[in-house]
Amino acid sequence: MADLAVFAVPLTTRFRGITVREGVLLRGEAGWGEFSPFLEYDDPTAAPWLACAREAADRGWPAPVRDRVPVNVTVPACGPEEAHAIVRAGGCRTAKVKVAERGQDPTQDEARLEAVRDALDAVGPGGLVRIDANGGWDVEEACRRIPVLERAAGGLEYVEQPVATVEDLALVRRRVSVPIAADESIRRAADPYRVRDLGAADVAVLKVQPLGGVRACLRIAEDIGMPVVVSSAVESSVGIAAGVALAAALPELHHACGLATVQLLSDDVARHPLLPVDGELPVGPAEVDPARLARLAADPDRVAHWRTRLDRVAALLDDAPPDLGQDRRS
Ligand SMILES: [Mg+2]
Repeated sequence: MADLAVFAVPLTTRFRGITVREGVLLRGEAGWGEFSPFLEYDDPTAAPWLACAREAADRGWPAPVRDRVPVNVTVPACGPEEAHAIVRAGGCRTAKVKVAERGQDPTQDEARLEAVRDALDAVGPGGLVRIDANGGWDVEEACRRIPVLERAAGGLEYVEQPVATVEDLALVRRRVSVPIAADESIRRAADPYRVRDLGAADVAVLKVQPLGGVRACLRIAEDIGMPVVVSSAVESSVGIAAGVALAAALPELHHACGLATVQLLSDDVARHPLLPVDGELPVGPAEVDPARLARLAADPDRVAHWRTRLDRVAALLDDAPPDLGQDRRS
């Protein structure tokens, strides 16, 4: 196997407007790392993603404090029957349900949540429901809708990004009793500090690639002193393993993580794809399978694109390392 491979994996469903997930796998002394910034990202934005891949390849990760990580099943903005079936098939005790979908009637969210609660309760007590509005409401709408959906779901663990901006998150948080999680509001290493400083959320959703790796995220988590949910950027199992390493190394993990996304890919580079068993993912590096890697090799023009991009971002990273989760306690 070469020490660098460009992969292209078709998605099972459209995500962020893309149908194929592409990226680079780098192999170093410590193992494989994944560099898969989204195509529209400029080089400075992609630099922390490379720092994350290099950490995995060159250094490896800090020692875990747990050997399994609980994950949520994700329910798209579908009808109630499908939502029920997804939760039953998922085997997870936490369900994340998409709401506030553009073009849908608000009662569709209620029907979906009732179905999800029913599916969780059919397995036993203690199932948790979180909702994700992807910033789809304004402040007034969020404050009106959240209590209604809380009743429909029989209780909510939290609501993820009910509104688009950090300022509006802070306003909603002061007016509703359901905890608020910041997701899209956290895209760069400085963002979690802003969320904390404005009192905008109860929970921070952290993704290892955009924030510069496992150690950078551990520093951020310690600095901000908020409960963390580790989420994916829809990586292959190599990239997901880095998210799992973060979740496994956090001193405390109060919530299931959003790392069960390998099922959104039609294939994977790992011998044992990181799919949940009984609602949990195992902790440890992903073992790359040469045959799978060969099968998922990108076309030569895409390989050329990624090699050029990697060289540019590497030059940038070596020249001016990004500001990764330094201590900002004052
Ligand atoms: Mg989200």
